Amino acid sequence: SADLAAAFALIREIPDFPEPGVLFRDIGPLLADAAAFRTVVDALAGTVPDRVDLVVALEARGFLLGAAVGYARNLGVVAVRKPGKLPMVAHRVDYALEYGSATFELSDQIVAPGQRVVVVDDVLATGGTVRAACELVEHVGGEVAAVSVVLELAGLGGRDRLADRDVRTLLTV
Ligand code: IMP
Repeated sequence: SADLAAAFALIREIPDFPEPGVLFRDIGPLLADAAAFRTVVDALAGTVPDRVDLVVALEARGFLLGAAVGYARNLGVVAVRKPGKLPMVAHRVDYALEYGSATFELSDQIVAPGQRVVVVDDVLATGGTVRAACELVEHVGGEVAAVSVVLELAGLGGRDRLADRDVRTLLTV
């Protein structure tokens, strides 16, 4: 739609961030614009399957989108976080990034066994981040019904690394 196109036009391309050779897509200006934020959140909420129990949002920009999607779809929100932030950690996953490596944690007794979750983040690059989050959810007995992301960077292999997942993205570049 025209509204979505206008929202996506607010994404900035930052060369050599956070490392030389990386072209960083900054969705900050999109989130900062009321109309763009609403349009994108509504569209992202529309990608969430009907039979979902919970939003799992990934630190940090996934929090901003995941909370809004949860509100829009009347779903609760769970945070997957970097190490040392969450109490009662149930499980921890180390994963590789386009630049470096990272760790995610999930609290115990926050995703119930059998709950169907949608994993929400801002950008899908290599897919390592989303894959780690899915692993955490499944470790505690949750089921990943879908993955909803605003921006997919094709060519970094994210969709291939998530071949067994229902990955829904709003824009592919
Ligand atoms: P992946 O694990 O390689 O798929 O990287 C995805 C994660 O890194 C997401 O949590 C994104 O927030 C972040 N990320 C990677 N590339 C970009 C980018 O170009 N812009 C914004 N975030 C990015």
